[in-house]
Amino acid sequence: MIYLKTKEEIELLRESNMLVAKTHGEVAKWVEPGVTTLKLDKIAEEFIRDHGGVPAFLNYQGFPNSLCTSVNDQVVHGIPDNKPLNEGDVVSVDCGVLLNGYYGDSAFTYCIGEVDPEIKKLLEVTKESLYKGIEQAVEGKRIGDVGCAVQSHAEGYGFSVVREMVGHGVGKNLHESPEVPNYGRRGNGVKLKEGMVIAIEPMINFGKRHIVQESDGWTIRTRDRKVSAHFEHTVAVGKNEADILSSFKFVEEVLHLQSEK
Ligand code: MG
Ligand code: MG
Repeated sequence: MIYLKTKEEIELLRESNMLVAKTHGEVAKWVEPGVTTLKLDKIAEEFIRDHGGVPAFLNYQGFPNSLCTSVNDQVVHGIPDNKPLNEGDVVSVDCGVLLNGYYGDSAFTYCIGEVDPEIKKLLEVTKESLYKGIEQAVEGKRIGDVGCAVQSHAEGYGFSVVREMVGHGVGKNLHESPEVPNYGRRGNGVKLKEGMVIAIEPMINFGKRHIVQESDGWTIRTRDRKVSAHFEHTVAVGKNEADILSSFKFVEEVLHLQSEK
């Protein structure tokens, strides 16, 4: 069952997703060599609670933290820990909040200091593929159009698309129908309608597409242990264009200031 949202509900979803966006902005200030993912998790949890939200991932099906932090070959659902991040690492930070009864969900992959140019390219292409997918999130298109746009962009650079993990509807539940795969065929799948709110979240691997789950029961990593990247926005399907409810604005302001230092 796909819930179509009213204009009022979309505004509430925007508020939740803006809190996620601002939380990423706070996290971004701390992302540097030596920081631990548990520290990032603490920053995020405090910021979310100080702004009247509840961390959506904390205790979700038993998940122990507020952020999913997935380092290097980890794809998604990494558990924050007290190992310091090193120069050259990348870390996907996925953040969800519940605010006023509605969820926000967005992910960004950060570089720790100087990162290998080939890996930076993977991150750039993954982010671009997210926006290619978002371009398709308009009334009358289909879920397969979104997936196809993501997939053709990523594969065009020789990267591969994780199949088992997908995007999803967002609303009064963190995960709603429909599923939003990052691969697909044009003209296939559920027809998109104004009022649908979906999280589009390409998980793109540097090497092969295959994944395995770690024995912690959560962390997904690449089978070949090559790096993976993950970017996610929550968007409302529009009549003529998608309305992006989350934002990387706050993150990008911080990263830009840091790069000028
Ligand atoms: Mg997410
Ligand atoms: Mg999601």
